[in-house]
Amino acid sequence: MEPVMKIAETYRKIRKEVPENVKIVAAVKTRSPEEVMEFIEAGGTDIGENYVQEAEQMYRELGDMAKTVRWHMIGHIQTNKINKSLELFDVLQTVDSVQKAAAVDVRAARCEGRVVPVYLEINIGDESTKAGLLPEFDEVLKAAEGIAVMEHVRLEGLMTMGPVTGDPEDSRLFFRRTREIFDGLRGCSIPGVAMDTLSMGMSDSYRVAIEEGSTMIRLGTVLFGAR
Ligand SMILES: *Cc1c(COP(=O)(O)O)cnc(C)c1O
Repeated sequence: MEPVMKIAETYRKIRKEVPENVKIVAAVKTRSPEEVMEFIEAGGTDIGENYVQEAEQMYRELGDMAKTVRWHMIGHIQTNKINKSLELFDVLQTVDSVQKAAAVDVRAARCEGRVVPVYLEINIGDESTKAGLLPEFDEVLKAAEGIAVMEHVRLEGLMTMGPVTGDPEDSRLFFRRTREIFDGLRGCSIPGVAMDTLSMGMSDSYRVAIEEGSTMIRLGTVLFGAR
């Protein structure tokens, strides 16, 4: 395991290295509250969790610090946990269908004036083991238009994982394709949609993802050490 003191240093180094417009989300699964606190103290602003229950526990353990960062749901969204998710998360990155967005919409409507930022997850490698919309522009556009009319959900971006092969160069074309869909949607200027975030790139692939237009990278291993 990496020594705990390295997290702040590593974060600041990566923060300096990546363009200012690129947000860094710390993917904190399996990490201790102390590790996450070190990230926040170093200036970290965004945290990603894969499971509602783990997020709930982390939120509690971070105490006052929890409220100083934005919380991103980056794991699969289970419909029966959306209510709880809405108590914890600021952004739901992994909406994979209009139906899922609609389920968020009706639950968010219970809070007066709440509008939940969501991203559509693109299954860019068309992998049967991964969630997300197929990387076909017409499909994604249809989903975006379906979400656009929802009062309590605002579509603000796309998110993709991409196949993990070991060689980040293998991800380049998948990232490029996601960027093309992103640009296409932006070009459509759908009323009610603010397509401004492209969430792609992880520890092994964030440099390539940024070259291909990512505006948000989700980092675990490179920040905190191996899981
Ligand atoms: C774990 C995780 C990451 C970060 O992965 P690393 O390879 O450790 O950087 C990014 N996105 C999602 C959705 C994850 O689950």
